[in-house]
Amino acid sequence: MYEFAVTPAVTQLRRPGVTIDKVEPGSLGAQLNLDSGDRIVRVNGRPVRDYLDFRFQTAGETEMTFLVRKVDGESWEIDLERDEGEDFGIDFEQIVPRQCANECLFCFCKGNPEDARPSLFVRDEDIRLSFLYGNYTTLSSITPDEMERIIEQRLSPQYVSVHATDLKTRAYLLGVDEARADIFDKLKRLLDNDIEIHAQVVLCPEINDGKQLEKTLRDLSAHYPKVVSTAIVPVALTRYNTDERLTRVTKEFCERTIDEVSVLQNEFRETLGVNFAFLGDEIYIKAGRDIPPKEHYGEYPQIEDGVGMVRSFVNEFEELLEEVSSSKFQISSSDKETADDLRTHELAAKPDSPDFDPGNLNHELLTQKATIMTGEMFAPTLREQVEKYNRLTGADLHVLSVPNTYFGGDVSVAGLLSGQDFLAVKDKVKGDFVIIPPHVIKSDEPILIDGMPFESLRDKFDVPILAVDLMEFIRSAVRE
Ligand code: SF4
Repeated sequence: MYEFAVTPAVTQLRRPGVTIDKVEPGSLGAQLNLDSGDRIVRVNGRPVRDYLDFRFQTAGETEMTFLVRKVDGESWEIDLERDEGEDFGIDFEQIVPRQCANECLFCFCKGNPEDARPSLFVRDEDIRLSFLYGNYTTLSSITPDEMERIIEQRLSPQYVSVHATDLKTRAYLLGVDEARADIFDKLKRLLDNDIEIHAQVVLCPEINDGKQLEKTLRDLSAHYPKVVSTAIVPVALTRYNTDERLTRVTKEFCERTIDEVSVLQNEFRETLGVNFAFLGDEIYIKAGRDIPPKEHYGEYPQIEDGVGMVRSFVNEFEELLEEVSSSKFQISSSDKETADDLRTHELAAKPDSPDFDPGNLNHELLTQKATIMTGEMFAPTLREQVEKYNRLTGADLHVLSVPNTYFGGDVSVAGLLSGQDFLAVKDKVKGDFVIIPPHVIKSDEPILIDGMPFESLRDKFDVPILAVDLMEFIRSAVRE
């Protein structure tokens, strides 16, 4: 899920128009004397609510009229012409996420420690973010305007948390009444208008598993290929989720779920030609079963939901090992097999990366002894691959599994490790430097999930810490 800076969501007054963040010098925007802070309120008489509206209303147009509210309060009407496809050179403010009106039993916000950084309490439910970044919505509080907008602007695909097609069960999980939980007509309208849907089921033992899950998958698969895929991910409860209605996911539960869903996948392959329903990696790992091969996942339609991430990593790492052993080291990013960022649309704006140094990469580091830290779930997979790398190159990289004490409970993914968690295993570090996963650092600010500045974490270690992707690190170091 894409995480937003929280400040605008809670403090910004919504004024008409979309605010300009930056204007590239020499660009068309600069020639029109547009400045940061100006708001484009209308294009050709139609209101502009955000940068998606702006792109939609200017797409394909070479002559248009802007109504602009300047920073000093003046209103300008600008008639302009541009060459076909000419870029305006304007960056706009991020979309302020619309908040959800649900009270899901398993909501991640209920599993946060009190002092978690504010952005982790943002309950976004926004069809624009679903289209742009693959964030899930429940469609339970979608407005008629938003429905119109999806269809008119072709905001497809949409990522929808269905959880269960049985209405009572869905309402129970979402913590809303059945009228609000019922999205049958909304889904139908989207599908009738050729909007593609990727569905998600957060699997809660004894609530939407077993027969309920079978019904959900059968109901959704009836709309294939417009409902393109369904991801089934296990509920992850932190030590702060104390709701007695929720049951933790066990090894036996995962084994049973794999067996049950395999039967349906076989059936879908016969009738639809695809697996259609995909289980989250965590389910296979918890069950102690092998992660399915690449062919199982097709185009990895929901990889950012932790579905196929492990398979994609292992395959890419093995490809890298082959390159290393044949000393080619020429893997360009276009050759990569991984399907990362598949859900992020090309129109999606991202905040500038924070101005921090991930650390010096150089070839000598690779021949030294070092520690790679990751979450408990991924550590065995990573260790197996890194040991192959060590045998091949003579490097001495050591994988350290880091327990998540910040969230506790079932949370074992690398992306939710906090500064405190890394500090807690500091004494187990071997070698001359440490690598931590880059995505434990907030995308627009160099802090970790518990608010600890990355700089403070670095200061507390006796050896340098690099927040880098291991494969990128190996490629960069080897290319030197
Ligand atoms: S839809 Fe449910 S899980 Fe998602 S933010 Fe809202 S309450 Fe939380």
